Amino acid sequence: MDMSVFDLFKIGIGPSSSHTVGPMVAARRFLLDNAPLDDVTEVKAELYGSLALTGVGHATDKAVLLGLMGETPQDVVPTSVDAQLADAEAAGQLKLLGAQAVQFKRGTHLVFHMAESLPEHPNGMRFTLTRKDGATVSKVYYSVGGGFIREEGEAPAAAAASVAVPYPFGTMAELLAHGVRSGLTIPQMLRANECARMSEDVLDAGLDKIWHVMRDCIAHGLDTAGQLPGGLNVKRRAAALWKQASTAAANSLPHDAMHQVSLYAMAVNEENAAGGRVVTAPTNGAAGIIPAVLRYYAEDCKPADPVAGVRDFLLTAAAIGMLCKRNASISGAEIGCQGEVGVACAMAAAGLVAALGGSNGQIENAAEIGIEHHLGMTCDPIGGLVQIPCIERNGMGAVKAITAGSLALKGDGTHFVSLDDVIETMRQTGADMQAKYKETSLGGLAIHVITVNHAAC
Ligand code: SF4
Repeated sequence: MDMSVFDLFKIGIGPSSSHTVGPMVAARRFLLDNAPLDDVTEVKAELYGSLALTGVGHATDKAVLLGLMGETPQDVVPTSVDAQLADAEAAGQLKLLGAQAVQFKRGTHLVFHMAESLPEHPNGMRFTLTRKDGATVSKVYYSVGGGFIREEGEAPAAAAASVAVPYPFGTMAELLAHGVRSGLTIPQMLRANECARMSEDVLDAGLDKIWHVMRDCIAHGLDTAGQLPGGLNVKRRAAALWKQASTAAANSLPHDAMHQVSLYAMAVNEENAAGGRVVTAPTNGAAGIIPAVLRYYAEDCKPADPVAGVRDFLLTAAAIGMLCKRNASISGAEIGCQGEVGVACAMAAAGLVAALGGSNGQIENAAEIGIEHHLGMTCDPIGGLVQIPCIERNGMGAVKAITAGSLALKGDGTHFVSLDDVIETMRQTGADMQAKYKETSLGGLAIHVITVNHAAC
């Protein structure tokens, strides 16, 4: 598996991994690949398919400009983005990678092709630069979900460095077989694989950092009121509901614990919708589920060693995400929301079971349940914004992950449907799904509710 846990969990910026993080990375990569830039006179970015249809709602336009200016998702300061872009647009000028200035005009240098898609994936973009002598260079990139990008013609596996690992796996059956032979748990095997790429100290520091960013994101979301950007006038609810939930009177029923889990997830997705700092898990649209279940684990399950448990949780969740990405997709534009919220639910369920000491069979069972009950779920965000249904959907996904984990832990690990089968079912279901249900905002909730008009952009 040519993927690392840090490919699945990337610190970035909202609101979308495929429509914000990926395009920002692609724009910057295009310029870096074509440096030096001191004789460049013009750069043009063209967005196609889902990137065009829901691009403004997903801040793809902002992301592309920031990437051309040299910003990265992990380092850009979310609170400075609007001012940075306003300055560039007012000056009619972009500084490529922070240095070479070129003219910039929307509609000329940033173009949305609403009725056109590129052949290899619904999230296509073309960048073209012109040099002083009139020579041009043009490249096509695809944002394939979870912040991953690939260049036109590039094999999917080439997007990540290939490293020989002790427990290579392309299916859950292979990973389980390694477990039987080695006597190791899934998080132990993932740890050994990661240690072929980096030292154990670097791995643990990276995992701890991911958890810290997730935890901070929940805390910030639970403390921030107001209205989300984008024109739908959606009110942030997590903070007010959290305040209400923090009183003793509001905690009198057993299911109030699940209400709090929903609020953790909604807090993250409100942060994401506001363009805040989030971790892709495995995408931004589904970024609330894993942090919510992790906080539930770390605080409510009262583990003896929460640091080790959180690390095992993340490693196990990453294994499930890798399988889904490799054998189906984690892109809403490719297979609908089953590939985002469904996959995140499966990752969280498996992570929870691993952290609570479940067997490899129970981990597989939890992940399989997590996906099975999201099969067929469409992606139909209203106004092309990652708000409705996405925010509440993460709350629901987190609660379902805990239920899936609980069901698996009460069993003995044997189950009827394998994880590999359910992932393949998800892939086929996504292939059969009409394009209007795949992050285009042309079907479902998106057309049954009055929306803001982004078409003019
Ligand atoms: S509906 Fe699901 S897949 Fe679509 S943008 Fe929202 S979270 Fe992502």
